[in-house]
Amino acid sequence: MSKTYDTIIIGAGIAGAATAHVLTQKDQKVLVLDKRGIASGGSGAAGAFVSPKIGKGSSLQTLTNKAFSFAKDFYLSTCPDYFHQTGVVRIPKDEADAKKFSEYEPFNENKYENYKNEQLQEQGICSDFESFYFPEAGDCDAKEVCAFLLSNIEVVQFYVRQIKQEDGLWCVGDYGAKNLVLATGYESDLADLRYMGIKGTWGTRGDFSSKLVLGVSMHQSMSVGANIDGIIKLGATHEKELKEPVPCQEAQALILKEKASSLIDTSDLELQEVFCGMRAGSKDYFPLVGKVIDIPFMLETYPTVTRGAKPEIKYVDNLFVCNGLGGRGFVFAPLMAKILAECIVEDKEVDVSVDPDRLFLKWCRKSPELDTLR
Ligand SMILES: Cc1cc2nc3c(=O)[nH]c(=O)nc-3n(C[C@H](O)[C@H](O)[C@H](O)COP(=O)(O)OP(=O)(O)OC[C@H]3O[C@@H](n4cnc5c(N)ncnc54)[C@H](O)[C@@H]3O)c2cc1C
Repeated sequence: MSKTYDTIIIGAGIAGAATAHVLTQKDQKVLVLDKRGIASGGSGAAGAFVSPKIGKGSSLQTLTNKAFSFAKDFYLSTCPDYFHQTGVVRIPKDEADAKKFSEYEPFNENKYENYKNEQLQEQGICSDFESFYFPEAGDCDAKEVCAFLLSNIEVVQFYVRQIKQEDGLWCVGDYGAKNLVLATGYESDLADLRYMGIKGTWGTRGDFSSKLVLGVSMHQSMSVGANIDGIIKLGATHEKELKEPVPCQEAQALILKEKASSLIDTSDLELQEVFCGMRAGSKDYFPLVGKVIDIPFMLETYPTVTRGAKPEIKYVDNLFVCNGLGGRGFVFAPLMAKILAECIVEDKEVDVSVDPDRLFLKWCRKSPELDTLR
């Protein structure tokens, strides 16, 4: 083994980069491996808007808004050059949606103002619906944030095809470490993570040059970024039919421009670059952060788990996951990285709402692939 570390992280997207950053702050020696390089997966495609979730109150909304609050403080203190706190206006889609906004109001846990027609017009937004303005929200330069978080950490371009544990050490190629973190996004075949139900949703974003004065970002059924250095980001599509990556499609970015024309004056927008990638989500839209259950052991030792038994869980030694950040990777990653780093270094318990354990028993009982054991 050429070199050993406290922790190896596979995946240099925002999940891996934030985790590496926090572990390094806790004095861990960390190595990050990525098959294509930093932010080469979904993270590089992201418009990376960081804004609260609106709705009628739910545990997912509460977690998202806590993560939002943590994330904006994290980016402002860690990499302020790559976080643009432009504010984000949330605009109702139609009359019916506008009515719901008044029901959402009591659940706006983060700082906000109501924006009426005139304020929207002053900002260059074409909408008659009263909207919410979140002044603390904004967007990240996605690739730059990932690169910055990894700037003092060893990152190697390496396609991990297999992981194995020998004498208490994870061996990945020529590298070794006590702990291994899988932050591989929608690709989750290095360990048995079936119970987590990780799935990808393909998306496209387009960056357009423009002279339009637009000081604020906005979100309706898509996001429109403020004009930063002559570029307006439009994102993102949800192309659910695509199960595997394809080359980025200009046509998808132009659909976004067409859609944006109902919100802003798009007449001088010229497409400069198209980005695309997978968002990796979990079954219940909550992140997946924590230890990995030893599935082969559990099924072999306790086959009755498929019929409702609840045996004590055995984990794979020192194997962890940071995944399932869905369409809000840049919102969730800083808080999830903190939670995971505390689990790895201080053996602190992971919040049950993000611990992948929550999905295990149901998967055992309901998964058709386990029918033969039932
Ligand atoms: C078009 C689009 C727009 C988005 N907009 C926003 C937004 O506005 N706000 C927001 O917060 N989020 C947004 N997201 C979501 C965000 O990008 C994701 O939540 C985020 O990318 C998740 O990061 P990740 O690190 O888990 O995965 P990824 O970024 O996909 O990183 C996984 C990495 O693992 C590497 N890898 C996988 N397998 C291996 C292997 N075997 N060996 C080595 N390396 C491997 C990959 O190369 C990849 O770099 C958007 C996503 C898309 C696609």
